[in-house]
Amino acid sequence: MDIKESAELTAFRTTVREWVSANIPGDIRQDYIYSGMEQDDPVDRWFQKLAGKNWLAFRWPEQFGGPGFSPAEQMVFVDEFRTLGAPVPGGFGLSMVGPLIFQFGSDAQKARFLPPIAAHEEIWCQGYSEPNSGSDLASLQTKAELNGDRFIVNGQKTWTSRANKAGWIFCLVRTSNEGPQQRGISFLLIDMKTPGVTIRPIDQIDGLAAFYETFFDNVEVPLENMVGEINEGWGMAKALLAHERSGTGANVDVKRLVDNIKTLARQYEKDGRPVLEDESFRQRLAQLEMDADGLLYTRYRMLTTLLQGQTPGPEASIFKLYQSEVCQELYELALEAMGPDAARWYDENLAPEAFEMPMQMTITRAMSIYSGSNEIQRNIIAKRVLNLPD
Ligand SMILES: Cc1cc2nc3c(=O)[nH]c(=O)nc-3n(C[C@H](O)[C@H](O)[C@H](O)COP(=O)(O)OP(=O)(O)OC[C@H]3O[C@@H](n4cnc5c(N)ncnc54)[C@H](O)[C@@H]3O)c2cc1C
Repeated sequence: MDIKESAELTAFRTTVREWVSANIPGDIRQDYIYSGMEQDDPVDRWFQKLAGKNWLAFRWPEQFGGPGFSPAEQMVFVDEFRTLGAPVPGGFGLSMVGPLIFQFGSDAQKARFLPPIAAHEEIWCQGYSEPNSGSDLASLQTKAELNGDRFIVNGQKTWTSRANKAGWIFCLVRTSNEGPQQRGISFLLIDMKTPGVTIRPIDQIDGLAAFYETFFDNVEVPLENMVGEINEGWGMAKALLAHERSGTGANVDVKRLVDNIKTLARQYEKDGRPVLEDESFRQRLAQLEMDADGLLYTRYRMLTTLLQGQTPGPEASIFKLYQSEVCQELYELALEAMGPDAARWYDENLAPEAFEMPMQMTITRAMSIYSGSNEIQRNIIAKRVLNLPD
């Protein structure tokens, strides 16, 4: 195997590096972590700029409006963004409902929904979880009754991330109570401006509101906004979750994190010597660095599957489980190296490598919960990879 970068790929790398360096908005770094929540977010301006160059939907094939980058080009693209500290495009529209629409949507749905996602004109949110249906997602109760050519939707979703910014929500709804729970679910695309849709923020301990409750009160949804067949939405739900899981932690640059932890472990001291000289600390960091390399190659395999227009299989669950654990362990090492400084939230006096650590440590705890908790991923791996009985 030749692992040297080809001349074409190096030229592509230079093009990406030069364009990103010249175009990234100057105010992006300090606001980066809050991206997706604030109404006036520099990341939105950045994404619009990328859309203007047709680089926003960088993972999409050409036939659906993407630039048609090869898997190797996608890797180089992300690598350059990471090196330059530029937010990498992703999210509910680009990485989840978009790929689902190319696979299962009608021609009319492709024409209506894909272009505004690739242009960052329509932002999406996800309506899966309900107050009594999280891990046991198939028990969901938000009801959609078909009346002529429209559904009437009633019920409640919860933990809807970024519902305040989204123009559209993709929702799992119950369309039948006959047979197994999974057989009576349908997948709807709902305009958040439809009368009867309301949202309410869930206040967080840090004063932010990243999540919302979303209520549906006699909301009319045209039949043409259903993806796939009626009562067959569970297949769509699973395919979309595989896209979501294969992107888990896409906002964490594991390689850069390892390098930052090394820098911090040289700067901070424990028992009168740099933390990096502690043998146990070094061993754990070395193991996690190797794990991070393994994860990178798993991600490349999944990218190739996506580019071939397929949905990643149970390997998405393995990736999600492993990636979230590696990231959490790395941030625990960062915390160990920094000691009490790890509690200094957005403190400008911290070293650049330490600045984002306290916030990121907190955010990373959520990785083992969202897109299906890690216990649920273990159940999926047991059933679909190890063929263990229920
Ligand atoms: C940051 C973040 C963002 C999110 N964004 C969204 C969003 O935009 N849209 C959306 O729809 N949802 C979202 N969620 C919700 C998320 O999908 C759910 O929190 C998750 O599926 C778990 O459901 P739950 O919170 O109801 O926990 P529960 O299902 O009540 O689980 C509680 C605990 O029991 C364990 N457990 C449950 N069942 C089993 C089992 N069979 N075997 C072993 N252990 C089990 C779980 O692993 C967990 O530890 C988000 C969550 C987070 C943390």
